[in-house]
Amino acid sequence: MSEEKSLNFIEEIIESDLETKKYDQIITRFPPEPNGYLHIGHAKSICLNFGLGLKYNGKTNLRFDDTNPVKEDVEYVDSIKEDIKWLGFEWANEFYASDYFDKLYEFAIVLIKKGLAYVDDSTAEEIAKQKGTPTEPGTGNVYRNRTVEENLELFQNMRDGKYADGEKVLRAKIDLANPNMHMRDPLLYRIKHVPHHRTGDKWCIYPMYDFAHGQSDSIEHITHSICTLEFIPHRDLYDWLINQLGIYPSKQYEFARLNMTYTVMSKRKLLQLVEEKHVESWDDPRMPTISGMRRRGYTPASIRMFCDKIGVQKRENMISVGLLEFCVREDLNKTAIRRMAVLDPIKLTISNYPEGKEEILTSENNPEMPETGNREVAFSGNLWIEREDFREVAEKKWFRLAPGAMVRLKSAYIVKCTDFKKDEQGNITEIICEYIPESKSGSDTSGLHVKGTIHWVSQAHAAHAEVRLYDRLFKVENPSKEEGDFKSYINEHSLEILPNVYIEQEVKNVKPGEPIQFIRKGYFTLDNVHTKDGKLVFNRTVTLKDNWEKAAK
Ligand code: ATP
Ligand code: MG
Repeated sequence: MSEEKSLNFIEEIIESDLETKKYDQIITRFPPEPNGYLHIGHAKSICLNFGLGLKYNGKTNLRFDDTNPVKEDVEYVDSIKEDIKWLGFEWANEFYASDYFDKLYEFAIVLIKKGLAYVDDSTAEEIAKQKGTPTEPGTGNVYRNRTVEENLELFQNMRDGKYADGEKVLRAKIDLANPNMHMRDPLLYRIKHVPHHRTGDKWCIYPMYDFAHGQSDSIEHITHSICTLEFIPHRDLYDWLINQLGIYPSKQYEFARLNMTYTVMSKRKLLQLVEEKHVESWDDPRMPTISGMRRRGYTPASIRMFCDKIGVQKRENMISVGLLEFCVREDLNKTAIRRMAVLDPIKLTISNYPEGKEEILTSENNPEMPETGNREVAFSGNLWIEREDFREVAEKKWFRLAPGAMVRLKSAYIVKCTDFKKDEQGNITEIICEYIPESKSGSDTSGLHVKGTIHWVSQAHAAHAEVRLYDRLFKVENPSKEEGDFKSYINEHSLEILPNVYIEQEVKNVKPGEPIQFIRKGYFTLDNVHTKDGKLVFNRTVTLKDNWEKAAK
């Protein structure tokens, strides 16, 4: 897109910083905690951080914020790396906050020596009580007056594993009356006798987020540390720690997180959906995870376009999932090959087509991209068409098949319905037509004009497949804001399986992730999990038009 876009507020800050030569080069980072799979909200942060690095000729690090050994796992580290690469970004360095544990420990010693940190034996409840309230100052305790020597020794003992979990903590000594509660002697270290996925048993004390994040930024000389709005109250502490330690002055900036309709975005909630089997896995195509969207057939370009369109704001809002789907359609319309698939098949027999005859017709691969050329499609007198393309009684403005009505078979002939058959239960089982031999697409001399065109596949030439249609995972726009458990708003009809679908043969050879438009039916891709042992399973990525907004009215 060549349209001029105005700068977002972070770009304005960066441009001014570069102009005043505050920095020669900017360095940003994307700092995921490896405790779950990335979701579309993370994509916003990735596009922002990596996008700024690219735009301003800077660098962007990937830093795993792995300071809590309890919930973290290498499975998550691997998936996060895969997802960022898939989105199309490259990190300058791969770092881990846990690589800095020695350095952070030294920083803690510096604070203790400056009389700015102390070991506290209070319980979590006692500490919470002593902190006061936003309108009432906190009260100190006896531990606050410990000497530097005493603190150094106790902190060493903490590290040496002499105490049980929760017995002692290290706190910064700042200001118990500060209106910002985060400045009232925040915790810096806690004891956790838990092995870490990278440092093993080396440590039994782990730094808190606030004592790891800013210090890691500083170690890496991050110039613009971009995080979401909930970290605004942490900024005073971020600056205080960097100042007191006299280390590289990274700066924190906050933007609004992405919220999207009909889904949930927190890893904790997504984990519940997986663990309680409301979905198949983290990469279930209904999940708002990057891996789920990839499996469903969303493209990196469509996700980047979405992140670009939503922009960067300072205030939280709710983005319609319809915008994401719009972006997916925009991209797939250009890139998806067109094929025919009959999702709900019924037989169509052409009574005047010579018995046993076959023809090879041609049809465009993608009319939006003529350079993709044509494909061959086999035609015969025995076809499958969609059940919904036939009506026993044609009402006004019905341009598809009905007794006596004519329709064009896409890229083939015009047919006229002469009869239909029913079984004992009254279900229609077969439609009988006659074709007009002179009406062949591309060389039509019939002089007939028909309004409707329908898709079809030749019975003898069709491959069999299963198709999975997806709907919103939740019935309400914002399940997290509703009363009670968010899971009580799950849409039980979010997955519909069509077991009996007929497709053009060559669709068998596409790869998972390759986009296909099944003409008139939407965009699809081959599912990489359920496609096996000769069984083909397609996921519908998105419909051709936005049916949801219409139905909601
Ligand atoms: P969650 O609440 O889903 O667990 P998180 O913020 O704890 O998310 P992190 O792994 O800490 O997840 O996030 C890595 C980066 O992604 C952080 O900088 C965070 O601010 C950003 N991020 C997380 N969720 C969103 C979102 N919904 N919109 C924009 N950025 C987000
Ligand atoms: Mg987090």
